[in-house]
Amino acid sequence: MGRRLLGVSGEKPKGFMTLGHDSIIAESLSKLRHHGITSVYIGTGYQQSYYECLAQQFLDVQCIYNEAFATTGSMATLRLLQDYIKSDFLLLESDIIYERRALRRIIDAPFNDAILTSDVTSYGDEVFVSSSQNGLLVGMSKNADAIENPDSIFVGISKLSIKTLNCMFDFFDAKQNPALNYEDAMIGVSKKCAINVCNAGSLHWCEIDTPEHLNIARQSVYPAIRRNDDYPLVTRNILLNPGPATTTDTVKYAQVIPDICPREIEFGYILQEVSERITDLVANTEEYVSVLFGGSGTAVIESILSSVIGPNDHLCIVNNGNYGVRMHEIAQIYQLSVVEYVSDPYRAVDVKQLVNFISGSQKNVTHLAVVHHETTTGVLNNLDDISKLCARRNIVLIVDAISSFGAIPINMQQQCIHYLAATANKNLQGIPGVSFVIAARTMLESTKEITPRNLYLNLYNQYNYQETNSQTRFTPPVQAIYALRQALIETNCEGIEARYTRYANCWSVLIDGLKRLRLELLVPIEFQSKLLTTIKEPSHSDYNFKEMHDFLIRQGFTIYPGSLSGCNTFRIANIGAIVPDDIKRFITALTTYFLYKGIIA
Ligand code: PLP
Ligand code: MG
Ligand code: MG
Repeated sequence: MGRRLLGVSGEKPKGFMTLGHDSIIAESLSKLRHHGITSVYIGTGYQQSYYECLAQQFLDVQCIYNEAFATTGSMATLRLLQDYIKSDFLLLESDIIYERRALRRIIDAPFNDAILTSDVTSYGDEVFVSSSQNGLLVGMSKNADAIENPDSIFVGISKLSIKTLNCMFDFFDAKQNPALNYEDAMIGVSKKCAINVCNAGSLHWCEIDTPEHLNIARQSVYPAIRRNDDYPLVTRNILLNPGPATTTDTVKYAQVIPDICPREIEFGYILQEVSERITDLVANTEEYVSVLFGGSGTAVIESILSSVIGPNDHLCIVNNGNYGVRMHEIAQIYQLSVVEYVSDPYRAVDVKQLVNFISGSQKNVTHLAVVHHETTTGVLNNLDDISKLCARRNIVLIVDAISSFGAIPINMQQQCIHYLAATANKNLQGIPGVSFVIAARTMLESTKEITPRNLYLNLYNQYNYQETNSQTRFTPPVQAIYALRQALIETNCEGIEARYTRYANCWSVLIDGLKRLRLELLVPIEFQSKLLTTIKEPSHSDYNFKEMHDFLIRQGFTIYPGSLSGCNTFRIANIGAIVPDDIKRFITALTTYFLYKGIIA
């Protein structure tokens, strides 16, 4: 009924106040449609005809009238919707204005039941929320002193499952209070149904209950919402998984481009620029070229292995981790003549033993494939020693540099590397979708006569087409390539050595913090890349990776499980657009979790 606004909104219901062009309810409906939510039920009461007129303008908006609106609370209205709500749904109030991203946030939250909250404001009439250590709703009240540790305020946008809704109805029935509001029912069931608190931080929004609210909305909140909806803020999460890595805003925005056909010359120039910028990081651009593929890192590894080993060649694959195993799998699928050199996964490859292995090999090894940085463990293999061995024996060296490229300086000529595989979304700080092979043109030309073993991934054909047409043979990930161009510009500005220094500084903060938490590392320091750390899981009985992961992700940190059999570990990468301060905050969050679980005292 909006009694506090009478005289300001006239006889209209609150949802029909206007701040911009449309009523605030119409703006809300339009934001919902923008996120694909078209089926809407509006529980009406006071002056319901306004809502009914509005609903007629939309195909799938329906009004359900609560004739007892003057004497009942929101649970009674919700009750009338019971037969209409068939699946998990969003519940919104009609008198709020909010940024569009508020909906994205709650829709994408990986929980069936969640409420959206924000930093505390002082507009008046705030509903304070308190949550448990693991982010679940515990209490809500307009009186901050009435609940424990209120840390955010309720926005009035929630996501509920049918299961929780039914519990709320049961609670409502048991209470026998027609004036019950849905917030109280949520609190009532929160012990039985886990309702997550999604804090959207500095989100601009407000509820309009009073003339003061309306003033604040007009003066500051609504203009701020318009600004951010037009130029949306993109949340920056700290990705501590080994890629895709955290990107800068400028890389994120570089994806937003005019519609363009990748067969146009304009795109050809972008492709050329990107290719040259990549090559320039590791080789001279006259002799060497980067061949681009739409695909993940594995695509380019498969491209090289399936395209450059001739029928009389013999390949040796160094395996000290899962990515070595994967290369061997690829070689076997293509029925290449291949031998595997298995080496201790906890340390860098022992090159002396590798020499003995190759010398003792029955067939003459013509090609050697090695993973530079084994992302399974964080072990950095010694590329210099391996490349010297290959150079001495005239062996073609293939390097999987997917997780080292862009951070650890590489010089293909000096290090006699013949084929290098890498991808956009790790240390280059681009987005996933594009990967590349770097090689000398003469090297690629020498594979021309090898009968293709596949179509899409054939390296020579991709190279030849790119060189001739400044296009990829098949549809490229256009936006990912624009983002990569921006990421390369930024890599160039920072410089690879400075980038490695920044990463290594992040790593030092990480290692110090892990030590304080008495966590043990899997790999001896001297073999570590300083880009990724494998950590032994605590043996404490209350430790649980998934729970720790979920705790951290709520605070914007994504960690990664281990992938070694026979040893319980998890992994933290420190690559991407992050700084040592981000790792400090991560350690603080991790420490909070450890204290809360009693893993440390
Ligand atoms: N090789 C290494 C060393 C990697 O770290 C990865 C991915 O993490 C890959 C290959 C496979 O890359 P993708 O997952 O992009 O196919
Ligand atoms: Mg209110
Ligand atoms: Mg209200």
